[in-house]
Amino acid sequence: MRFKALEIAQSRNAVKVTNDFSTIQEMYACNVFNDESMQTYLDKETYKSLKASIKDGTKISRETASQIAVGMKAWAMERGVSHYTHWFQPLTGTTAEKHDSFFEPDGERAVSKFSGDALVQQEPDASSLPSGGLRNTFEARGYTAWDPSSPAFIYENTSGKTLCIPTVFVSYTGEALDYKAPLLKSISLLDKAAMDVCQYFYNDVKKVSPSLGVEQEYFLVDKALFNQRPDLIMCGRTLFGYSAAKNQQMDDHYFGSIPDRVFNYMVDFENEALKLGIPLRTRHNEVAPGQYECAPQFEEINLAVDHNQLLMDLMDEVANRHGFKALFHEKPFGGMNGSGKHNNWSLMTDTGINLLSPGNNPLSNLSFLTFFVNTIKAFHDQADLIRASIASASNDHRLGANEAPPAIMSIFIGSTLTKVLEDLENNVKAKKGATADKTISIAQIPEILVDNTDRNRTSPFAFTGNKFELRAVGSSKSCASPMMVLNTAMANQLITFKEDVDALIGSKKMKKNEAILSVLRGYLKESKRILFEGNGYGDKWVKDAKGLGLSNLRDTPSALGAYVSDSTVEMMSKLGIFTKEELTARYHIELEDYVKKVQIEGRIIDDMTYTQVLPAAVKYQKILADNIIAMKGAGMAKAQIDASLEILEEVSGHANALKTKVDRMVEARKKANKMNDVEKQAKAYSSKVNAEFDDIRYHADKLERLVDDSLWTIPKYRELLHIK
Ligand code: ADP
Ligand code: MG
Repeated sequence: MRFKALEIAQSRNAVKVTNDFSTIQEMYACNVFNDESMQTYLDKETYKSLKASIKDGTKISRETASQIAVGMKAWAMERGVSHYTHWFQPLTGTTAEKHDSFFEPDGERAVSKFSGDALVQQEPDASSLPSGGLRNTFEARGYTAWDPSSPAFIYENTSGKTLCIPTVFVSYTGEALDYKAPLLKSISLLDKAAMDVCQYFYNDVKKVSPSLGVEQEYFLVDKALFNQRPDLIMCGRTLFGYSAAKNQQMDDHYFGSIPDRVFNYMVDFENEALKLGIPLRTRHNEVAPGQYECAPQFEEINLAVDHNQLLMDLMDEVANRHGFKALFHEKPFGGMNGSGKHNNWSLMTDTGINLLSPGNNPLSNLSFLTFFVNTIKAFHDQADLIRASIASASNDHRLGANEAPPAIMSIFIGSTLTKVLEDLENNVKAKKGATADKTISIAQIPEILVDNTDRNRTSPFAFTGNKFELRAVGSSKSCASPMMVLNTAMANQLITFKEDVDALIGSKKMKKNEAILSVLRGYLKESKRILFEGNGYGDKWVKDAKGLGLSNLRDTPSALGAYVSDSTVEMMSKLGIFTKEELTARYHIELEDYVKKVQIEGRIIDDMTYTQVLPAAVKYQKILADNIIAMKGAGMAKAQIDASLEILEEVSGHANALKTKVDRMVEARKKANKMNDVEKQAKAYSSKVNAEFDDIRYHADKLERLVDDSLWTIPKYRELLHIK
């Protein structure tokens, strides 16, 4: 039994390792230990128990794990893999890995080994990864544990291949130290809650899975130019930069033809993604010059989150090969579009029903309305927590700025559904000829035809026909946190819904459909203020939203507070997603992250001002001053010297103001650095340090416009943005 899998593997001819694929079908998922590979490399019993575990989350026995390890290793080694790693998503927001070789010396020979234990669990010395105080560094005990629901894959680098095993990262006392563990909990919680509600409509549904399709926006810049900008290197965004004469005002970049050099890059990373089973389907130019987007076909949410993390790694790496740098920062360039990551989210049953797809008969309609209204209520009740889950120093520059949803959380549903919900709320009677119970008029509308062209780009959460699209997520952010919050909010809401409906059926002896509609009507009344169809970019909305009592949390330190509010702690601990300690830890990690990011930006502003901007200004001042003296010496009249004098005055004015303001910001930074309380420190960084940046930039950008181009050492927007 023990070596059965190995025998099976060895009986096959070694796979020809090649990058020469003739069709996409051949290439697709060739680096994934997917169902087909499992069937080939595992014996029947092992395969069956692995599949059961993937489907129902049942525990895998040691014996089975050993068998899987043997098969997986054989599969990987046939493809030229030498090392393996547990691949996880620590609270840094990126991915982490520590490679171990399959090979072990055995006397004079090297033998390959990969045990079931090594597959299932590892203990990386991860004491340097953030834990928010959950794990003291002297007892740096955290371990990674295999997540069989996301398949293992081979990551190819130029000089080697690594078998990557997706894992969660938890402390020995059970606290989550990563983004995946709570996401997985929220998925199974939502499955159970949605399943219970599904029974009102479809009793054959056994599983409900949230789905996610991620649209990823990014900028590309030439790597040589990137390397000349300390701000891009250290912060991922430009801290200075006078607007190019032509940027996005002509609207000629969006959906425009893709420059050849960019196209080659896209094809290259898409192929790499396809090999990893990331189903990329869409590519296009975005609104700003140098800005692009790609999107895969939606997948089960855990896989989609992993794939997006992996995709960003790939895009970064492949960009190198093409002399590019991919920028995932939410706002790399001032005064232009920022980048987002639209999270298209829905709920799918194992019977193939999209629960957020409007129905074409009364029953599916009632089911649709149930999940639709519950999503609205869930989003309404947890809007602050959702805002917290998308908060970051970089996203602060995007929310409420050019072409980005505002920091006010609202929902767009389009005109058809607005009307449907009005009818529901007002209990509009059934149309003539309807047959069933007259009180459930709304459910008798036989078909809800949603006008799919009814789009609103300004909304942070928009219904787009058969899914909700959370657009407020920043382009650099992992989708895991916002999706975990959305799943949990929805699960919590569906649990309440079931209780409310059952109560009406039980005590009031109401009919099921009537009870459902009655409860939904109540929810609509409580949450409809969050529905907003207008222009989210306008100032009027800021005022109106305030009148409606909706939050507008403009900066990260204030947005993050929702992580530790009483209601969050109550909900998260009741549902078993997070303990209060875990939430507090995450809150502190995010605050620290904010402080560090703004701190680095402050330092780079200081650095670039003193070593690049002011020296250029001073040199130009000297040229101008020498010129004035020379002109005077040559006997020129005052009027003829005026131009030089005026420019000199202007340059000096901005240089002096720049220096004064940078010095003031540095002082504020030093003061903030001395604070011990990270909450206060983050607030100080926001209101005293970050608050100075725009003003400082104003003077630096004026200097860029005035100073002799040959003296300016920082690549300009016009050079960065227009890729040839
Ligand atoms: P756009 O929003 O730009 O018009 P699409 O509507 O085609 O683009 O899709 C955007 C993303 O939404 C894609 O990744 C797509 O796979 C995903 N999507 C489509 N249907 C669903 C669904 N039921 N659940 C989750 N995502 C979905
Ligand atoms: Mg979209």
